[in-house]
Amino acid sequence: MLKHKILGGLYGQALGDAWGMPAYFDPDQTWKAYGWIEDFLPGPDDHEVHAGLPAARITDDSEQAFSLARAYVKRGGVTLDATIEAIVDWYDRTGGDQSRYVGPSTRRGVQALKRGEDPYTTGHFGDTNGAAMRVSVVGLLHPNDPMGAIDEAHISCIPTHNTSVAISGACAVAAAVAVAMREDATLDAIIAAGMLGAELGRQKGNPWLGPSVARRIDMAVDIARKGSDPRARLRELYDVVGTSLSIVETVGAAFGVLVMADADPRQTAIYAANLSGDADTVGAIACAIAGAYGGIDAIPQAIQARLDADPIFAGYHVPQLADQIEQLVARRS
Ligand SMILES: [Mg+2]
Repeated sequence: MLKHKILGGLYGQALGDAWGMPAYFDPDQTWKAYGWIEDFLPGPDDHEVHAGLPAARITDDSEQAFSLARAYVKRGGVTLDATIEAIVDWYDRTGGDQSRYVGPSTRRGVQALKRGEDPYTTGHFGDTNGAAMRVSVVGLLHPNDPMGAIDEAHISCIPTHNTSVAISGACAVAAAVAVAMREDATLDAIIAAGMLGAELGRQKGNPWLGPSVARRIDMAVDIARKGSDPRARLRELYDVVGTSLSIVETVGAAFGVLVMADADPRQTAIYAANLSGDADTVGAIACAIAGAYGGIDAIPQAIQARLDADPIFAGYHVPQLADQIEQLVARRS
């Protein structure tokens, strides 16, 4: 049922984000501090970005995704104006100028937009993972329509991430979510959609330096399917695919943990968190795909309740947002 898949995608995004939030930059640091992250945990005091955050708190990834969803629902679809409105509004609401959350491409883009620059130029150099972390909602708006998701993921990148490499990463995620929404979706079909999105997205936007997102997804899936111990596979994903702010790494790693977990949302979140690096972003992307694939029933009720109890998440009224997304999908088809 479509509604269950939309809810799964939205709660999945939040699950992976909040679960990965306390992870450190390197897996050895994470494993030394926690052993193995198997629950929502608070941001530790010595964390560079997430110190002081309570357990089960979402971060910029989900806040931007839900802000986009809200704006797209309000404007009746994915438009450049709605994207700008959502990103600038999120930036101002969360004190963007002082916030440690704001990524480099988003900050540069928003500041240029505020100076009144042409939105077709403000994302000219944006090449980091913000384009992919917030794009799952575009996939939710295009169930079983990866080509539509790819076209509109491109639009969602323009004001802050208008480069071939960033659009490639965003289109990979949006296409994967769109295919995950099919009732008869398979993990192989989701991976294939991700690679298609990566290839088509790479032909859009400002031609920019960067390796192939599709090849990185392929590499991550190969590592994920090895028979070795999960820690060894995570270490290899970290060392070879990477989990920095590079969108090529982030999107590749997200497909890696998704496949390791056979797309179970909670297990995907566990692997993303223990992978470390930009774990909340890897987790948000991977668990949004996993949630769209398995639907809301694939996410344990206790996890949904923990998310619902957090005031930041609750403030986005996700169940209502899911209804509105469902209505918009029905209107457009
Ligand atoms: Mg984040």
